[in-house]
Amino acid sequence: MRIVLFGPPGAGKGTQARLLVERRRLRHVSTGIILRRAIREQTPVGQKAKLYMDEGKLVPGRLVRALAEEAINLVGNDNFILDGYPRTLEQAQWLTEYLNDRQVPLHAVVSLQVPEDVIVDRLSKRRVNKKTGENYHLDFNPPPPGVDPALIYRRQDDDPEAIRKRLEVYRRETEPLEEYFREEGCLYPILGVGEMDEVYERIEEVLRATEPV
Ligand code: AMP
Repeated sequence: MRIVLFGPPGAGKGTQARLLVERRRLRHVSTGIILRRAIREQTPVGQKAKLYMDEGKLVPGRLVRALAEEAINLVGNDNFILDGYPRTLEQAQWLTEYLNDRQVPLHAVVSLQVPEDVIVDRLSKRRVNKKTGENYHLDFNPPPPGVDPALIYRRQDDDPEAIRKRLEVYRRETEPLEEYFREEGCLYPILGVGEMDEVYERIEEVLRATEPV
């Protein structure tokens, strides 16, 4: 299956992607994770991207396009969940072109619907495990006692000012893509609020309805 997980920052895309990897053996392609790795490794792309990411701005599209296409190609152009790409209309058109050229169109764009106050709460209380990339929430899913506290950090772009900026960028640049995918006939909005497994079950319903037989 070829799926895009779509939604604002803090919608739970990363969490649901992890479940889809475990339960459906899909491959997770996250431009955010790829970019954060590039920053850690101090590659030329990483050094450029950091300037934008720390402030909650979008990284220039041509940089992300190359990384995304390389990653999709690496997983064999199939059985993937895209998370965080595309984020602009231009990127959506690039993705459509890339997949159409290889005759592997998307099965579904699952759009997680989450109200803004829930998003702000999730992002400001999100913590990440440096080693595993696992996400925690300070109230609902705190890091377990066995985990070394030195590994737990708050993403630079999860500070209040960057959160505000990311949401503004999302509303302006990314949300309009819903219309693009609706016209393409592959948009499936689902409620992204509730227990992790409840949300997962809603995604499963979409996958069962759209997966090839
Ligand atoms: P994420 O982990 O998906 O929340 O992404 C974190 C940050 O990485 C974003 O706020 C952007 O700065 C950058 N980023 C990730 N994906 C993209 C993309 N498709 N286009 C531009 N910037 C991106």
